[in-house]
Amino acid sequence: MMDTNIKNNNFICQIINKDFNKNKDLSFYTRFPPEPNGYLHIGHAKSICLNFELAHLYNGQCNLRFDDTNPLKENVKYIHSIKNDINWLGYKWHGDIRYSSEYFEKLYQYAKELIRKGLAYVDELTKEQIREYRGTLNTPGKNSPYRNRTIEENIELFEKMKNGKFSEGKACLRAKIDMNSSFIIMRDPVLYRIIFAEHHQTQKKWCIYPMYDFAHCLSDSIEGITHSLCTLEFQDNKCLYNWILRNTSITHFPQQYEFSRLNLEFSVLSKRKLKILIDNNIIQGWNDPRIPTLSGLRRKGYTPSSIKHFCKEIGVTKQNTLIEFSMLEHCIRKELNQTSIRTMAVLEPIKVFLYNLDENHEEKFIVPNHPNNPEMGTHEIIFTNTIYIERSDFQEKYEKKYKRLKLGNKIRLRYAYIIKAEKIEKDEHNNIINIICYCDLNTLGKKPKNNKNPSVIHWISEKNTIPAEFRLYNQLFNIKNPEKEKNFLSYINLESLIKKNGFIEKEMGKKIQNKINTSNSKLCFQFERIGYFCIDKIDSKKNYLVFNRTVSLRDTWNTKKLEQKNITNN
Ligand code: ATP
Ligand code: MG
Repeated sequence: MMDTNIKNNNFICQIINKDFNKNKDLSFYTRFPPEPNGYLHIGHAKSICLNFELAHLYNGQCNLRFDDTNPLKENVKYIHSIKNDINWLGYKWHGDIRYSSEYFEKLYQYAKELIRKGLAYVDELTKEQIREYRGTLNTPGKNSPYRNRTIEENIELFEKMKNGKFSEGKACLRAKIDMNSSFIIMRDPVLYRIIFAEHHQTQKKWCIYPMYDFAHCLSDSIEGITHSLCTLEFQDNKCLYNWILRNTSITHFPQQYEFSRLNLEFSVLSKRKLKILIDNNIIQGWNDPRIPTLSGLRRKGYTPSSIKHFCKEIGVTKQNTLIEFSMLEHCIRKELNQTSIRTMAVLEPIKVFLYNLDENHEEKFIVPNHPNNPEMGTHEIIFTNTIYIERSDFQEKYEKKYKRLKLGNKIRLRYAYIIKAEKIEKDEHNNIINIICYCDLNTLGKKPKNNKNPSVIHWISEKNTIPAEFRLYNQLFNIKNPEKEKNFLSYINLESLIKKNGFIEKEMGKKIQNKINTSNSKLCFQFERIGYFCIDKIDSKKNYLVFNRTVSLRDTWNTKKLEQKNITNN
C-alpha cells in the first residue's frame, strides 16, 4: 500500500480491506459531493482528505461532484471557490467535474420507472400538510388522500409538473413506501419538487428538481462509486438510499458509510450560519480570517499541509466530539516553526533615544533568518542612536516581577547591546514619548561583568523601518460551542480583530514589497517574540503592508493529549 496522509487503521479502512479480501480486483471509487451554496470549511477538508486519500491509498479514484439540486441557493461563484480550494489542498479529482444536474434526464426516467411500478405518486398536499401527515417518532403517519392515484394518472400529473403546469408548492412527487415506518425518512419521502428558477448548469430546462436523497444515490450509482462516505446525520437516509437503488433498474450498488462530522471549538461550521455572520457584517466575507473556511484559514496563513496534518490527527470515527482549536493551531505552529523566516517587527512602537551614541552612529549586524537552519540565510539590520521598542516592553513603575525594561534597569536588545533606561519624556497627556537610555558598547555578544544576563527584547532602528499594519485575530465567539446555541450571534467576541500600526525591518519589508504581487510567494514570518504572521495579499499594497497573525508563539496544545487521543481513536 502507498504511503498516504491518512491513518489507515480507521474503521472505514477496515471495511474496505474486507471488501478487497472478497474481491481483489475491486475498482475503488469515492466522491466528494459539495453543494455549491457556500465556501468550503475545515469540516469539508476532513471529508475531502478522507475521500481523496482513500482513493489514493486503494489505487482508486475520487470524483468531484457538485450536488446542485437546489438552484435557489446555488451560485457559480461557489463552484469556482470550491474548485480552487480543492486544488489548493493539492487533490486531483478524477476526470471532469461532475454535476448532479448532468443526470437530470436520467433521474427523471428513474422517477417515471418508480411511478410505473406503483412506487411513486404525485401528491397535492401542501408542504405544511405533508409535514402534519408525516407524524412523529411516537405517532404514525397518515396516508395522503392522493396516495392511491392510478399509475396513468400519476404519469400524466408528473409530466404536467415537468411542463410547468403546476405552480410551486402545488404538487410534488413522493415515493410510496410506508407511512408507519419507524424511520421517518421512509414515510413517503418527497422525491421531486417544483422550483421555477434558472439553474446555473441547465438554465431554464427544468422546473422540477430532485431532492437530495433521490439524486444522491442515483448519481453515486451512475458514476460507479463503490464507497459513498457521508456524515452521521445521514445514517437514517441510508434506508432510503438503498430503497431507491433496489427499486429502480440501476445495476451498480454503492455502499454508504457514515463518519462523525468535525466540530471545532469557538467556531460555527454550518454554511447557513456562516452566511448569517456575513450578511450581518460581523465578518468581512467568506475569506475572513476569523472563520475556519479554507479561504479564511489560507488568508490567515494556514498551509495545505497544516490542514491535512490536522485532518490526519483528528482521525475518522463515529464519535461526535468537539475538537480543540489549539490542536489546529498546534499543526500550523509546528510547521511554521520550521519554515518561517525570523525577523523583528514592532507592533506598538515607543521611541528609545540612546544618548551616548553619536548622531551618525550606524552599525550593521548580519542576523540569521532561522535559529537552527543556516540554509535559510541571513539578513542585515541597522543599529543607530534612535530605535523603537514595543510599548509593552517598558514600564515606568518599578515592579520586581516585571522582567522587561523599567526605569533604572537594563535590558538586552536582541542581536545588539545592553541598554539602561535612565529618563523618560512625556507629552502633555502624560504619555511616554521617549525613553532615554545609556547603551553599553562593551556588551555586544558578551555577558555583562556581573554575569547576570538581562532579558532580551526586540527593536528596530528608526532609520530601518517600513510602516505596516498588523491584524491580531482572537476567537470570533466567546463560548466554546457556539454551534449549539440558537442565538449564536449573542456570543460574538467584540475583540476578535485588533489592528496595530507599527514597523517592520526595512530590508525584509523591501523584499516583501517586491513579492507581493507574485501569487505563489510564501510570505510568512516569525516576528520575534510576537508570533507567526503572513502578508495579507488582499489588503496589502506595495506601499502599505498588512500582516495577519496566523498564530501566537505559545503552544497551548500538549502533544501528550494528542497521543492519548490517537489511542482512543484507533
Ligand atoms: P453545511 O452544514 O456546512 O452546510 P453540508 O453537509 O450541507 O454542510 P455539503 O456541501 O453538502 O455541506 O458537504 C459536502 C460534503 O462535506 C458532505 O459529504 C458532508 O458530509 C461533508 N461535510 C460537511 N460538513 C462537514 C463537517 N463538519 N465534517 C465533516 N464532513 C463534513
Ligand atoms: Mg448538504
